[in-house]
Amino acid sequence: MPMFCLMCGAPCNQRPIFHIADRLKMISCHYDIVQCPACGSVQVSPLPSEDEIAGLYPVGYNFKIESSDRGISRAIKMFEWRVFYRSSFQRNYRMLRRAVGRDGFSILDVGCGSGLRLQVFKDAGCEVEGNETSAACVEHIHSIGGIPVHHGRIETLNISRQYDVVTMFALLEHLADPLSVVSAVKKLLKPGGKLVIQVPVVDSIQFKLLGRRSAMVSDMPRHVFIPSLSGLRAFMVREGFAQHSCCPVSLFERATLFALGIMPLSSTPVTYGRSPTVRTLYRVLGWGLTVFPGLLVALMESFTRAGAETVFVFEIKKEV
Ligand SMILES: [Zn+2]
Repeated sequence: MPMFCLMCGAPCNQRPIFHIADRLKMISCHYDIVQCPACGSVQVSPLPSEDEIAGLYPVGYNFKIESSDRGISRAIKMFEWRVFYRSSFQRNYRMLRRAVGRDGFSILDVGCGSGLRLQVFKDAGCEVEGNETSAACVEHIHSIGGIPVHHGRIETLNISRQYDVVTMFALLEHLADPLSVVSAVKKLLKPGGKLVIQVPVVDSIQFKLLGRRSAMVSDMPRHVFIPSLSGLRAFMVREGFAQHSCCPVSLFERATLFALGIMPLSSTPVTYGRSPTVRTLYRVLGWGLTVFPGLLVALMESFTRAGAETVFVFEIKKEV
């Protein structure tokens, strides 16, 4: 069956560059990964459907602190939250503020997960709303309260208002139909509004160095594709956007992704099914052993402007 690049639209019937198994073991079959000869983006072949992908997320895929977390597990999660997640989200906020040029803006976070990032944005004075397809995440956000969340696929919802900023953190690469989602969010931007997309890119040193072991590849098929810088820009230009700015996520976050690639135990996969405490200890141990070499790789990536995760700010192209 003919296959086309999700980013640039070029024919993509190449020999697979990788043949991978799901590292989270949610499915037993292997997947071929092909690379677009035109723009260099990579994608799963054949493309899974949205429903297939939806069934491949284990419980706990999104970080959250729950009332049932107790003892050492809770202590380690709180440590992760304070040292890693909260500082990353605060950095996200500062980047959004620079892009918008003022405080107090409105945000819709598409794929908001457990809502922790939105909580940080709200604490910084933003007017926040979330969108999430996972019923468990929506229920979790409701249980905490204070953040309105739209449940369902954004392209099927009827949201009548517009926002200063729409964000998609670590979401685009999970979509089998990125086009319909980007078209849908375009309508939700106020004039002059910003669309912020955080996504891994194949131009990063981590992809070149680790290949199939890199965290961006080993999370396929949940990552349906990984764009190249040129592929993503071609895609966004075709959808009527111009790039405002881009920068890699923090050194620390990229070092953690390196840790995830070298030592998958530092994430989640092999530890599913074990007790939450053992799972969390594995994660911290794996991370602790590999994060420092990861910092060196992340430092090199900083010079290329293409990180294992990179944040792009787009705005709707003005008619000339
Ligand atoms: Zn392409």
